[in-house]
Amino acid sequence: MVKIPKEQRRYCPNCDKHTEQTLKEPTDRSDGPFKKKFRKRQRKVDNGYGSFPYENPAIRSRGRKNPTSEKKDLEFNCKECGKSYKRQNPIRTSKLEIER
Ligand SMILES: [Zn+2]
Repeated sequence: MVKIPKEQRRYCPNCDKHTEQTLKEPTDRSDGPFKKKFRKRQRKVDNGYGSFPYENPAIRSRGRKNPTSEKKDLEFNCKECGKSYKRQNPIRTSKLEIER
């Protein structure tokens, strides 16, 4: 569990100085039917490729445990210039809580 404050004083690459910034809520980017990732998987399911799709999802990671955490894309919005930018090295966690 990672807690992040909603309003932070951070460096803004557009203003080239530290400004007050607000954190945007991370949007749910699950696979839609038109995403390239989904279409690629669907092509393999339709045509068949090896033993794909796997019945047991643990086979996917070849003996290791499947990852439970994921990279959260955090977007900060600068109050002075109004522009937003993404964190270069995103936080990797399973649960993210934004404090108000
Ligand atoms: Zn700015």
